[in-house]
Amino acid sequence: MAAIIEIDRLSKQYGSGTKALDDVSLTIDEGEIIALLGPNGAGKTTLISVICGLVVPTGGTVRVGGHDIRRDWRAARKLIGLVPQEIALPPFESVMNCVRFTRGLYGMAPDDAYLERILRALALWDKRDAATRELSGGMKRRVLIAKALSHRPKVLFLDEPTAGVDVALRREMWEVVGDLRREGVTIILTTHYLEEAEEMADRVGVINRGQLLLVRPTAELMGEFGRKTLIIDL
Ligand code: ATP
Repeated sequence: MAAIIEIDRLSKQYGSGTKALDDVSLTIDEGEIIALLGPNGAGKTTLISVICGLVVPTGGTVRVGGHDIRRDWRAARKLIGLVPQEIALPPFESVMNCVRFTRGLYGMAPDDAYLERILRALALWDKRDAATRELSGGMKRRVLIAKALSHRPKVLFLDEPTAGVDVALRREMWEVVGDLRREGVTIILTTHYLEEAEEMADRVGVINRGQLLLVRPTAELMGEFGRKTLIIDL
């Protein structure tokens, strides 16, 4: 399988002196789902932000679809969709307008047939004319995913997609990820929950204090360490 993301010796030191990323290298193949597992402050969001070109690294390189994220950001960002941790949507705008607007930001021609497909896949089609403030938390998260998919990215980043949501909504999110997998979208997600990584990902990367401690196929990880050890070590 072809590599879609190539991360080489990435580091990030914030002005405060915090080493949020420390010599991280990782290659992710097209169509793969990878979970980055780690406690608060481990560096997960920083890693995603650097790959998406939102935070400038102190050292190292990132290539997305062969494009260096710093030298060729415009080409790289077209391949990327990001669902941020915080839910921020214009409250009075309709679901369809939000998604159309985001597509426009990428300079892409309108394609309502494609947007309809996304909204249907995310069970949002019936809500397309609803103002976002009328939606439940789970629906709002799905609108964020629809926005992130609006320009047909090859890679989708989900930063803690199930933080603060109940069990039913977590399962719903797992199902959405399963559907996207069938569409061939590469997904990188962050989580605090081992069972979530286990449920959704092909591979799990354990990150702590800015270091990528290990990356293993999910089944292998469980066999090698067992759930208890991993949780205790984190
Ligand atoms: P969480 O699970 O809580 O979201 P995380 O694994 O995503 O955590 P990061 O948000 O990447 O972790 O933070 C990694 C480290 O970098 C933390 O020590 C954090 O305080 C620090 N940090 C993050 N953003 C900044 C910033 N803009 N300026 C200074 N330090 C930062």
